[in-house]
Amino acid sequence: MTKHLIESIGVKVVKEKGEEIRKCLARLELLNRDVLIKKEGEHLLIPVSRAIKERELEELKAVYPQIEVVKTLFKAAPHRPKDLMEALKDLLPPYKLASLPGSFDIIGDIVVIEIPPELEGEEALIAEGIMRIHPHVKSIYKKAGAVEGEFRVRPLKFIGGIDKPVTVHKEHGCLFKVDLKEVYFSPRLATERRRVVELVNSREVVVDLFSGVGPYAIQIAKFRGAKVYAVDINPRAYQLLLENIRVNKVQDRVEAVHGDARQVASTILRGIADRVIMNHPSQALDFLDAACLALKPEGGVIHVYTFAHAFEDIEDYLARKIRDAGRRVYGILHRGFVRQVAPREWQVVIDVKVR
Ligand code: SAM
Repeated sequence: MTKHLIESIGVKVVKEKGEEIRKCLARLELLNRDVLIKKEGEHLLIPVSRAIKERELEELKAVYPQIEVVKTLFKAAPHRPKDLMEALKDLLPPYKLASLPGSFDIIGDIVVIEIPPELEGEEALIAEGIMRIHPHVKSIYKKAGAVEGEFRVRPLKFIGGIDKPVTVHKEHGCLFKVDLKEVYFSPRLATERRRVVELVNSREVVVDLFSGVGPYAIQIAKFRGAKVYAVDINPRAYQLLLENIRVNKVQDRVEAVHGDARQVASTILRGIADRVIMNHPSQALDFLDAACLALKPEGGVIHVYTFAHAFEDIEDYLARKIRDAGRRVYGILHRGFVRQVAPREWQVVIDVKVR
């Protein structure tokens, strides 16, 4: 046996059923990922990680009667490094290895990474390393500045793979087409979005004042069945939002609005919302008047995102702004740290009940 061949149990299946059975074995946690699937004439040999129990085999055979268990030699799968440190351990000196980022964002098949100044000049090597860790990744960009401007877009520099900033990202089973050079999108907000989605009930009307490509709006419509108005001022975000609404089949529940949140809230969306989402941390506090206008006369809930060191200062400010808008804070339903943005600064969220 050469060192590239490994003996393993496998199942022999006809080629046409191969992908279906591979997925089924993966779901049963039976797939052996250390070796590669092998072709044999009109059949595929799919390696499994342990002996298949009699009962499991009976169940598999009930669905796929042609399945046959075999023991044979399979080619070893190429070794995938677990992180950048392992991927680059023989290619960079120790002081540079020590500066490698421990994490990066994966958005669809794109990686966005923050590279510290000590690693300037090593970008191509880092990009290669990322593609070895994550073979599905096609494009790698480094952060070339802070999120900026009205559209909240981060400048990016292409460092490896193919220069294609458009991808489709999956979040909680929904698909979001994004164009990272022209719109805002962060996969780090997935858990927070899930929290908000779960608070909504099907009878609500929700206004998402700064919707971007629609991750809050579309998930609320898809999973809670509520009616959502999604507003964004960036024409490219609006265009992608329309596509995402269609792809996720929520045309009957999400209405996309291209325009300025204040203008829209004071006209077409005035007085209609049970809930307003303000996911625009650098500006949300300045738009509280618009959120109050969008709420129904009897009030509702506003999810305000902002940057802060502590909650106390914001809550006083919030109460004052809401009073100035002719409303009243009835209670704070939730205070949460969403993510750290600087050593002593956080993106926070406050759910305010307004009357
Ligand atoms: N909620 C989205 C998400 O989770 O991906 C995007 C949030 S991003 C931080 C803020 C969004 O607000 C951007 O897409 C930007 O274009 C939009 N925006 C900025 N000013 C606006 C305004 N005056 N009216 C409507 N949208 C605005």
